[in-house]
Amino acid sequence: VAEHCIGIDLGGTAVKIGLVDSKGKIRDSIQIPTGSGRTAEAIGESIVLGVERLAKKNPKYPARAAGIGVPGFTEPSTGTITFIPNIPVLEGYPVTRRIEKALGLPVFADNDANNAARGEFLFGSAKGIRNFVFITLGTGIGGGLFLNGDLYDGYKNYAGEVGHMTVVPEGRVCGCGNYGCWEAYSSVTAMVKRAKAIIEKGNQTRLKKYYPDRLEAKVIADEARKGDFIAEHVFSEAAKYNGVGIANLINTLNPEAVIIGGGVSNAGSYLLDRIRHFTQIYTVRKSWEAVDIRLATLGNSAGIAGSAALAFMKTR
Ligand SMILES: [Zn+2]
Repeated sequence: VAEHCIGIDLGGTAVKIGLVDSKGKIRDSIQIPTGSGRTAEAIGESIVLGVERLAKKNPKYPARAAGIGVPGFTEPSTGTITFIPNIPVLEGYPVTRRIEKALGLPVFADNDANNAARGEFLFGSAKGIRNFVFITLGTGIGGGLFLNGDLYDGYKNYAGEVGHMTVVPEGRVCGCGNYGCWEAYSSVTAMVKRAKAIIEKGNQTRLKKYYPDRLEAKVIADEARKGDFIAEHVFSEAAKYNGVGIANLINTLNPEAVIIGGGVSNAGSYLLDRIRHFTQIYTVRKSWEAVDIRLATLGNSAGIAGSAALAFMKTR
């Protein structure tokens, strides 16, 4: 059996394709633009060509399967993308079958956060942990639930949408149409929006230097760490709602670990300290004593390695 799998990370602006070994190492990768205005068939075709190019460049490492990570929902038995707000042209498109047919390899598709959880389980900071919650803090908030040694996908494969847990009834509006979702408080998008509103009101803060285009999670964390009171406020407010969301998950699932990934996790121990602080407040004591909150380790390779992890887990 071949010891490599292909990981395909289907993003809004680019498709990243990588050849991944059984330890999670990306041997080789390429990137192709998703391109606006392209048809589903054209995008499917360029993914096939991309995988073929990668295979031709690496004849010594044949792949046994491919996995696809989708920023949305898929229907597991048919491999059809059922919901993908960033690339709506792909909705209803049987991406898995299309690529499977062209490549002659088993191909699987799932939500990208679910795949990132699989990646952390096989290759990263959740190795050997049978019960954990993976949270990705980025432009949105996603999650993957690992229960009794496998990913929990729910009745229709919609499980793990933790970012749309209500943390403030009738609170801030969310992209999903609801009010008060966790994502509307603690995502990068939410933090940047909050910082902008505070600056626009005329408050003094070093964050002004970055206004409007260079405001991002990293500068907010950096300035907060250096003592800017407003930056500290924005960051801690987001951390507080992370605490609410994570505590609800811990109270419900009693996981051994909570793994934090996504762009915000680059803030490292500064983020982790604040999340631990707030999560502890809202968690029942026994579950709090049993859980470890830690950072994901796959970082930027989570998309490709996670998609490959799906393929590894489905073919072992
Ligand atoms: Zn929502």
